[in-house]
Amino acid sequence: MTDASDIPIRVRPEIAALPPYKQGRQAGADAFKLSSNENPFDPLPGVVEALHAATAVNRYPDASAARLRERLAARFGVGTDSIHVGAGSVSILAQLVQATASPGDEVIYAWRSFEAYPWLAVVAGATAVHVPLTEDARHDLPAMAAAITDRTRAIIVCSPNNPTGPIVTQAEFDAFVVQVPSDVLVVLDEAYAEFVTDPAAVDGTRVLAAGAHPNVVVLRTFSKAFGLAGLRVGYAIGHPRILDAARSTSIPLSVTAQAEVAALASLDAEEDLLARVREIAERRDRLVAALRETGWRVPAAQGNFVWLPAGAETLSVAQAFDDAGLIVRPFAGDGIRISVGEEAAVEKVVRIAEAVVKDLPEGHAGLRVSVGS
Ligand code: PMP
Repeated sequence: MTDASDIPIRVRPEIAALPPYKQGRQAGADAFKLSSNENPFDPLPGVVEALHAATAVNRYPDASAARLRERLAARFGVGTDSIHVGAGSVSILAQLVQATASPGDEVIYAWRSFEAYPWLAVVAGATAVHVPLTEDARHDLPAMAAAITDRTRAIIVCSPNNPTGPIVTQAEFDAFVVQVPSDVLVVLDEAYAEFVTDPAAVDGTRVLAAGAHPNVVVLRTFSKAFGLAGLRVGYAIGHPRILDAARSTSIPLSVTAQAEVAALASLDAEEDLLARVREIAERRDRLVAALRETGWRVPAAQGNFVWLPAGAETLSVAQAFDDAGLIVRPFAGDGIRISVGEEAAVEKVVRIAEAVVKDLPEGHAGLRVSVGS
């Protein structure tokens, strides 16, 4: 934490109090980087060729990414104004929070969830209201509904939840959204939607198609399943007037032409995409089963990552992974998120998890309680 008196200019105190951004450690040549939920596969066919052809870097990009918006609009059966493209879905989330919440207003989200949520609320000058997850690391939507006040301006629902893994079900979301005042924005963050295999999961596109809740905006990204994290491109689907408000707060021209053509090319490679997504989901399910077998109490995992509830032992457990050449993402005092990466990493992850679980004290929250005990 920085002491505001050390800064040579006047910085808003809530900004001065924020910890500086720290990216997960980059992996050395012999380590597996399992800390950022990236896609372990090479870019989809056609992407590199499209990038090679997009060489007019002396020109600004098309400000609205019109071709990509048209393509996504056709895919989801909506008008082009119902699609907004940003430099990563996190930048669209920042725009939506900024457009809706100012000082004194409240932004509700589950916790623990994506680290950007509290940060975005603070940067907008709003008050972050976090609602604890349930025992099994799921959103507690009734508690989130109960946290709504007349100052609530935005509510973020993350399904599957980063970093813990479980989905929100369609039934849970439907029961929740009817309790939200119609002038409060609900952002359904579906960054990992493509990896979901549980048929009960909420599907934002279905919510939008039903048309009953124009205050819901769905966020998706090309960073995860589509494997374009390095190019920064994500999108929102929702009511054109809400997306106009987001567009009004955006930094112009931040989606590059390269990001746009790569996204278009990866949309052309649908079959390859689905094959990879299936492979990652299968790898994930195998990893979860093996980790549970070792004794870890791993919550349902529906993204491209798994969660070890290591609690007070988080940093020492993460160190054991690190020592074995596995870069994971620890959240001190809470748990460890491990991305589903290369096939060769799966067995290594299980081996270390098995070795460290033995050191957890009896009755530790991260330990599976066996049936009948
Ligand atoms: N939402 C969630 C839940 C995420 O985990 C992430 C990435 N970690 C994002 C949004 C942002 O993704 P991007 O900006 O790369 O689209």
